[in-house]
Amino acid sequence: METYRAFHRRSLEDRDAFWSEQAKLIDWHRPCDQVLDYSRPPFARWFVGGRTNLCHNAVDRHLEARGGQKALVYISTETGEARSFTYRELHLEVCKAAAMMKALGVGKGDRVIVYMPMIPQAVFAILACARLGAIHSVVFGGFAAASLAARIDDARPALMVTADGGSRMGKPVLYKSLVDESLRLATHAPKKVLLFNRGLDPNLTWVRDRDVDWKNAEKDISSATVGCEWLESNEPSYILYTSGTTGRPKGVQRDVGGYAVALASSMKHIFCGQAGETMFTTSDIGWVVGHSYIIYAPLIAGMTTILYEGVPIRPDAGIWWKIVEQEKVSVMFSAPTAIRVLKKQDPSYLKKHDISSLRHLFLAGEPLDEPTHKWISEALGKPVIDHYWQTETGWPLLSAMPGVEKTPLKMGSPSFPVYGYDVRLLHEGTAEQVADGEKGVVTIQPPLPPGCMSTVWGDDERFVKTYFGGFRGRHVYSTFDWGIRDRDGYYFILGRTDDVINVAGHRLGTREIEEAVNMHPNVAECAVVGVQDALKGQMPLAFAVLKDPGKGTSTQEVMETVDRQLGAIARPKAVHFVTLLPKTRSGKTLRRSIQALAEGRDPGDLTTIEDPGALEQIRQAIQEEKR
Ligand code: AMP
Repeated sequence: METYRAFHRRSLEDRDAFWSEQAKLIDWHRPCDQVLDYSRPPFARWFVGGRTNLCHNAVDRHLEARGGQKALVYISTETGEARSFTYRELHLEVCKAAAMMKALGVGKGDRVIVYMPMIPQAVFAILACARLGAIHSVVFGGFAAASLAARIDDARPALMVTADGGSRMGKPVLYKSLVDESLRLATHAPKKVLLFNRGLDPNLTWVRDRDVDWKNAEKDISSATVGCEWLESNEPSYILYTSGTTGRPKGVQRDVGGYAVALASSMKHIFCGQAGETMFTTSDIGWVVGHSYIIYAPLIAGMTTILYEGVPIRPDAGIWWKIVEQEKVSVMFSAPTAIRVLKKQDPSYLKKHDISSLRHLFLAGEPLDEPTHKWISEALGKPVIDHYWQTETGWPLLSAMPGVEKTPLKMGSPSFPVYGYDVRLLHEGTAEQVADGEKGVVTIQPPLPPGCMSTVWGDDERFVKTYFGGFRGRHVYSTFDWGIRDRDGYYFILGRTDDVINVAGHRLGTREIEEAVNMHPNVAECAVVGVQDALKGQMPLAFAVLKDPGKGTSTQEVMETVDRQLGAIARPKAVHFVTLLPKTRSGKTLRRSIQALAEGRDPGDLTTIEDPGALEQIRQAIQEEKR
């Protein structure tokens, strides 16, 4: 067996040979002419000239060998539904969805916004897009109408696919009214909306000539087979919007061939998931983890994947382990925040079920603190693998790779750079590599490996400027995370270098939340910072200056404004009214000092502050909150 180090070295030193070998893990309609084209740095084009299709690799190619095997298991503890689809059944459902979309005018290169709860139809719609060569853009169901409208205007979709609603903790979360509002707000609204009615909204209204009933449309095309569109490896497969340091969401654009190869290879070398086995990823299809590890990777690998609509503690805190037992899950993927929720429950739930099928639990999305890592490892008696990546990379960037070598795990560390990634920790100012034990920015020396974002949708310049512009004109990809490497080569992630916070594993830009707070008619200006939170990792905290303090504006009203603009996931933990924000003499808000005070730390160098009284107000507000 090759050691991890040798494997990693070979992936960088002999790139073409290494990735040609990995490319054999998927089906190609036409092989590529060139493994990597890096003639226009920092844009990397993988498997140039090769033709393939994500849906073919995820569904069709398994029909012969495993048509009768379960492909998708749907479990909803919200509505009590449970269903499974074999590969053959999945193929039929995806073909039907593709035929419906085609009939609604969707073709290759068209964008389709998918705003759906965790139901099988969401998976069918996504795979149908891939089949047609249409570009899906899944928007997380928790986002509000204004956020959805901003994404619609950027993607300019030909179609939107949605449902009447989702459900959380047994309560319906209605989607349709929000969709209608977003389409009113958007300038580039699609002409058609395909709607799957679950029967959760008794007051559901349909817009004539625009809204199409999935169940009706399906009846007309029940025997349809729609072929896969063979796409050049570098054509776009999807856009996934993510938060950055400006209020405008960034459309992370991904390719077809590179992504399929990266996912297939990650299943083999990192997740150790084999055809015929079952994977359970507890994320949502609206996030990158859901795209890669609920849908594409397990299906490409010929596994059974579980789509779970529900929370980890309902009907009780043993539900996940019950699913592991029932479905004989061998690979599981979750997030630290969920484990911290479980940690507060009765530990006996963990012992109630036979989890002997489980080989590894993978956790990602936010820093995994040592006590939580230790607790879950001991409670399960299985290796718990912390691994680190982001929407932009599409698959892990730091991880243990048990499929290559079983290296010992260190608590709180996502281990080592994954093959294909030339990771460097750089000093923020000098752009030199830092020594072991010193903090640096986690960067990747380009070209980025297959699977990573190809560009920002519709904005190559923003891609280069945002990600490759931070280190003195040198083309280095920045993750915007601080990291440190110990003497044994293990990495530790220390948090973001920019104004992005991580709430329960979800990335939110503080500027985005500030813009939402500013939408309240009586807010003159505000500052939002992320503060430590025992359960969620971080939570936003807002300080706002009112235009007219005499108007009796309540903090609740401000929070509701955020709910409306961005969605409840972005709602601040608290809103404090102040008469002044701490700023430098050049007018920059001292967010870091505010954050330090909020977390009970020293506010740092204050020599450039315009009015020290402003910080005093923040201090008092925080003290009052604690009281
Ligand atoms: P997202 O693109 O929304 O998945 O968020 C990616 C960000 O989450 C990264 O840039 C990190 O800040 C954080 N993150 C993801 N995984 C980890 C991890 N294992 N340890 C620490 N931070 C993580």
